[in-house]
Amino acid sequence: MTTQQTFSILKPDATRRNLTGAINQKFEENGLRIVAQKRIHMTREQAEGFYAVHKERPFFGELVDFMISEPVVVQVLEGENAVLKNREIMGATNPEEADAGTIRKEFALSIGENSVHGSDSDENAEIEIAYFFKPEELVG
Ligand code: ATP
Ligand code: MG
Repeated sequence: MTTQQTFSILKPDATRRNLTGAINQKFEENGLRIVAQKRIHMTREQAEGFYAVHKERPFFGELVDFMISEPVVVQVLEGENAVLKNREIMGATNPEEADAGTIRKEFALSIGENSVHGSDSDENAEIEIAYFFKPEELVG
Protein backbone atom coordinates (compact mmCIF):
# COMPACT_ATOMS: atom_id res chain seq x y z
CA MET A 1 0.00 0.00 0.00
CA THR A 2 1.35 3.41 -1.01
CA THR A 3 0.00 6.33 0.98
CA GLN A 4 0.31 9.47 -1.08
CA GLN A 5 -0.64 13.12 -0.87
CA THR A 6 -2.13 15.17 -3.67
CA PHE A 7 -3.11 18.78 -4.11
CA SER A 8 -6.73 19.78 -4.75
CA ILE A 9 -8.57 23.03 -5.48
CA LEU A 10 -12.30 23.62 -5.21
CA LYS A 11 -12.64 26.20 -7.98
CA PRO A 12 -14.69 29.44 -8.00
CA ASP A 13 -17.75 27.86 -9.64
CA ALA A 14 -17.88 25.44 -6.68
CA THR A 15 -17.46 28.02 -3.90
CA ARG A 16 -19.96 30.37 -5.62
CA ARG A 17 -22.64 27.64 -5.73
CA ASN A 18 -22.01 26.49 -2.14
CA LEU A 19 -20.82 23.06 -3.28
CA THR A 20 -17.66 22.67 -1.17
CA GLY A 21 -19.31 20.22 1.25
CA ALA A 22 -20.94 18.11 -1.47
CA ILE A 23 -17.66 17.85 -3.37
CA ASN A 24 -15.55 17.03 -0.32
CA GLN A 25 -18.06 14.33 0.62
CA LYS A 26 -17.04 12.57 -2.63
CA PHE A 27 -13.38 12.61 -1.62
CA GLU A 28 -14.07 11.44 1.92
CA GLU A 29 -16.47 8.65 0.99
CA ASN A 30 -13.88 7.37 -1.50
CA GLY A 31 -11.19 7.07 1.17
CA LEU A 32 -9.27 10.34 0.76
CA ARG A 33 -8.57 12.33 3.92
CA ILE A 34 -8.33 16.15 3.96
CA VAL A 35 -5.07 16.82 5.84
CA ALA A 36 -4.80 20.55 5.06
CA GLN A 37 -7.36 23.08 3.89
CA LYS A 38 -7.85 26.83 3.53
CA ARG A 39 -10.18 29.20 1.72
CA ILE A 40 -8.27 31.91 -0.16
CA HIS A 41 -8.86 34.50 -2.84
CA MET A 42 -5.93 33.98 -5.22
CA THR A 43 -4.05 36.96 -6.55
CA ARG A 44 -3.38 37.20 -10.28
CA GLU A 45 0.32 36.54 -9.63
CA GLN A 46 -0.46 33.38 -7.63
CA ALA A 47 -2.81 32.03 -10.32
CA GLU A 48 -0.39 32.83 -13.16
CA GLY A 49 2.43 31.11 -11.28
CA PHE A 50 0.33 28.08 -10.43
CA TYR A 51 -0.79 27.58 -14.06
CA ALA A 52 2.55 28.62 -15.63
CA VAL A 53 2.74 25.31 -17.57
CA HIS A 54 -0.33 26.45 -19.52
CA LYS A 55 0.85 29.99 -20.30
CA GLU A 56 1.16 29.40 -24.06
CA ARG A 57 -2.30 27.79 -24.29
CA PRO A 58 -5.11 29.85 -25.87
CA PHE A 59 -7.29 29.55 -22.76
CA PHE A 60 -4.61 30.79 -20.31
CA GLY A 61 -6.05 34.30 -19.85
CA GLU A 62 -9.57 32.96 -19.39
CA LEU A 63 -8.31 30.34 -16.91
CA VAL A 64 -6.48 32.90 -14.75
CA ASP A 65 -9.42 35.36 -14.83
CA PHE A 66 -11.74 32.56 -13.71
CA MET A 67 -9.46 31.32 -10.91
CA ILE A 68 -9.28 34.81 -9.35
CA SER A 69 -12.98 35.64 -9.88
CA GLU A 70 -14.15 34.25 -6.51
CA PRO A 71 -12.53 32.50 -3.53
CA VAL A 72 -11.24 28.95 -3.87
CA VAL A 73 -10.49 26.20 -1.35
CA VAL A 74 -6.97 24.80 -1.56
CA GLN A 75 -6.43 21.48 0.16
CA VAL A 76 -4.22 18.42 0.49
CA LEU A 77 -5.78 14.98 0.18
CA GLU A 78 -4.09 11.87 1.54
CA GLY A 79 -4.75 8.20 0.94
CA GLU A 80 -3.76 5.10 -0.97
CA ASN A 81 -2.65 6.11 -4.49
CA ALA A 82 -4.12 9.54 -3.80
CA VAL A 83 -2.94 11.21 -7.04
CA LEU A 84 -4.63 8.71 -9.34
CA LYS A 85 -7.61 8.16 -7.08
CA ASN A 86 -8.32 11.90 -6.94
CA ARG A 87 -8.21 12.13 -10.75
CA GLU A 88 -10.67 9.22 -10.96
CA ILE A 89 -13.07 10.83 -8.49
CA MET A 90 -12.80 14.17 -10.37
CA GLY A 91 -13.53 12.74 -13.84
CA ALA A 92 -12.44 14.04 -17.25
CA THR A 93 -11.52 17.73 -17.73
CA ASN A 94 -14.53 18.22 -19.99
CA PRO A 95 -17.67 17.35 -17.98
CA GLU A 96 -19.36 16.09 -21.15
CA GLU A 97 -16.72 13.34 -21.28
CA ALA A 98 -16.68 12.59 -17.55
CA ASP A 99 -17.94 9.24 -16.23
CA ALA A 100 -21.17 9.00 -14.26
CA GLY A 101 -20.70 9.57 -10.54
CA THR A 102 -17.60 11.75 -10.91
CA ILE A 103 -17.44 15.28 -9.49
CA ARG A 104 -17.16 16.92 -12.88
CA LYS A 105 -20.07 14.93 -14.30
CA GLU A 106 -22.30 15.86 -11.37
CA PHE A 107 -21.21 19.44 -10.70
CA ALA A 108 -19.08 21.03 -13.45
CA LEU A 109 -20.61 23.69 -15.67
CA SER A 110 -18.15 23.55 -18.60
CA ILE A 111 -14.56 22.64 -19.51
CA GLY A 112 -13.44 25.94 -17.97
CA GLU A 113 -15.74 26.03 -14.95
CA ASN A 114 -15.03 22.44 -14.01
CA SER A 115 -15.27 22.68 -10.20
CA VAL A 116 -12.00 21.01 -9.17
CA HIS A 117 -8.27 20.83 -9.82
CA GLY A 118 -6.16 17.82 -8.97
CA SER A 119 -2.42 17.18 -9.38
CA ASP A 120 -1.59 14.98 -12.38
CA SER A 121 1.57 13.32 -10.97
CA ASP A 122 3.38 12.65 -7.70
CA GLU A 123 6.06 15.16 -8.69
CA ASN A 124 3.55 17.93 -9.45
CA ALA A 125 1.62 17.14 -6.25
CA GLU A 126 4.75 17.90 -4.23
CA ILE A 127 5.37 21.16 -6.12
CA GLU A 128 1.73 22.29 -5.88
CA ILE A 129 1.39 21.46 -2.16
CA ALA A 130 4.53 23.49 -1.44
CA TYR A 131 3.14 26.40 -3.51
CA PHE A 132 0.26 26.91 -1.04
CA PHE A 133 1.20 25.18 2.25
CA LYS A 134 4.01 25.11 4.79
CA PRO A 135 4.92 21.58 5.96
CA GLU A 136 3.53 22.29 9.47
CA GLU A 137 0.09 23.09 8.02
CA LEU A 138 -0.39 19.43 7.02
CA VAL A 139 -1.95 17.48 9.85
CA GLY A 140 -3.03 13.90 9.28
P1 ATP B 1 -6.77 20.71 -13.61
O1 ATP B 1 -5.30 20.97 -13.94
O2 ATP B 1 -7.53 21.97 -13.31
O3 ATP B 1 -6.93 19.63 -12.59
P2 ATP B 1 -6.97 19.00 -15.89
O4 ATP B 1 -5.62 18.47 -15.45
O5 ATP B 1 -8.07 18.03 -16.05
O6 ATP B 1 -7.47 20.13 -14.90
P3 ATP B 1 -5.53 20.65 -17.78
O7 ATP B 1 -5.26 20.19 -19.17
O8 ATP B 1 -4.42 20.63 -16.79
O9 ATP B 1 -6.79 19.81 -17.23
O10 ATP B 1 -6.13 22.12 -17.88
C1 ATP B 1 -6.15 22.96 -16.74
C2 ATP B 1 -7.46 23.68 -16.66
O11 ATP B 1 -7.56 24.58 -17.75
C3 ATP B 1 -8.71 22.79 -16.80
O12 ATP B 1 -9.13 22.23 -15.60
C4 ATP B 1 -9.73 23.78 -17.30
O13 ATP B 1 -10.29 24.54 -16.22
C5 ATP B 1 -8.90 24.70 -18.18
N1 ATP B 1 -9.01 24.28 -19.58
C6 ATP B 1 -8.42 23.22 -20.17
N2 ATP B 1 -8.76 23.14 -21.47
C7 ATP B 1 -9.57 24.19 -21.70
C8 ATP B 1 -10.25 24.67 -22.85
N3 ATP B 1 -10.15 24.06 -24.03
N4 ATP B 1 -11.01 25.79 -22.70
C9 ATP B 1 -11.11 26.43 -21.51
N5 ATP B 1 -10.49 26.03 -20.39
C10 ATP B 1 -9.74 24.92 -20.48
MG1 MG C 1 -3.96 19.73 -14.99
